Amino acid sequence: MIETPHRRFNPLTGEWVLVSPHRAKRPWLGQVEKTPPENLPQYDATCYLCPRNERAGGIMNPDYSGTFAFDNDFAALLPDSNQEEHGSNSSLLAAEPERGLCRVVCFSPRHDLTLPELEIPAIEKVVSTWAEHTAQLGAKDFIHYVQVFENKGAVMGCSNPHPHSQIWATGHIPNEPAKEQARQSAYFQENGRTLLLDYLAEEHKRTERIIIFNDHFTALIPFWAVWPFETLIIAHRNVRYLNELTDAEVNSQADIFKQITTRYDNLFETSFPYSMGFHQAPFDGGVHPEWTLHAHFYPPLLRSATVKKFMVGFEMLGMPQRDITPEVAAERLRDVPALHYKQR
Ligand SMILES: [Zn+2]
Ligand SMILES: [Zn+2]
Repeated sequence: MIETPHRRFNPLTGEWVLVSPHRAKRPWLGQVEKTPPENLPQYDATCYLCPRNERAGGIMNPDYSGTFAFDNDFAALLPDSNQEEHGSNSSLLAAEPERGLCRVVCFSPRHDLTLPELEIPAIEKVVSTWAEHTAQLGAKDFIHYVQVFENKGAVMGCSNPHPHSQIWATGHIPNEPAKEQARQSAYFQENGRTLLLDYLAEEHKRTERIIIFNDHFTALIPFWAVWPFETLIIAHRNVRYLNELTDAEVNSQADIFKQITTRYDNLFETSFPYSMGFHQAPFDGGVHPEWTLHAHFYPPLLRSATVKKFMVGFEMLGMPQRDITPEVAAERLRDVPALHYKQR
């Protein structure tokens, strides 16, 4: 393992990250975050995501029992086709209309149960709901990308603690998947194989960054991780879309999600905040043999439940930088107990 400052390349985005292992032990005098309240109620009468409660505009939630999906009442995107043209005669002032749809997917009626606290069949239901809406939204002629994500924890700006995810479907491919599209496509054309499956094979030879794996998915800290405990969950075959997962793969996906989020919670014995999302192939009419479905977890916590990493200064103006190495982070996540701390 390299102990001196170095930089690592992210083949998915074409960007570099600075790694400074010698700084991992520096004292912390900065901001300390509040820990989230533990023991939320099973039902909260003031929560707009709980069953039977009223949402914006007087809409009532059904008395749902599994997952519950609805169009976001304050959507960032609208499906209307009659949008204004934004064209200007300067290439330096480029703008164009963007159509889309934003959905919310509640994991369960329970206000208090996060992903690691749900049983495997309930998580399978969440994965199947993501797959179903991916297919439904991806089939619309004006939709070219479906982004599934979860923003968890007040520290990530999540406004409601009721466990839920979002699906934003857009007319254009957003920046991050667009970078990955270009890189995976170039790699496939040059090598005739997919970038992520080749990368996965390298990681399984080395094992030092692998946290857990099952028959269909591997969870690892990528070689080029930016966030301290960032993970990448890669499908073992060339599945391009969530709605292409077989029943066995949905089960494996649920299993990996339960395992990795349990380990996250156990790391600092707190409900671990993160932004998580899937990257799947675009719905642009292409075949996309270069794509491998994967999920990224970007958690902000650095050394305890109350100390988070900031992306400021050199990172805002230069490039991302990390102190703890991906190898040490993977070792720590492998070493925590597999059983959730609330159940011990
Ligand atoms: Zn609720
Ligand atoms: Zn990705």
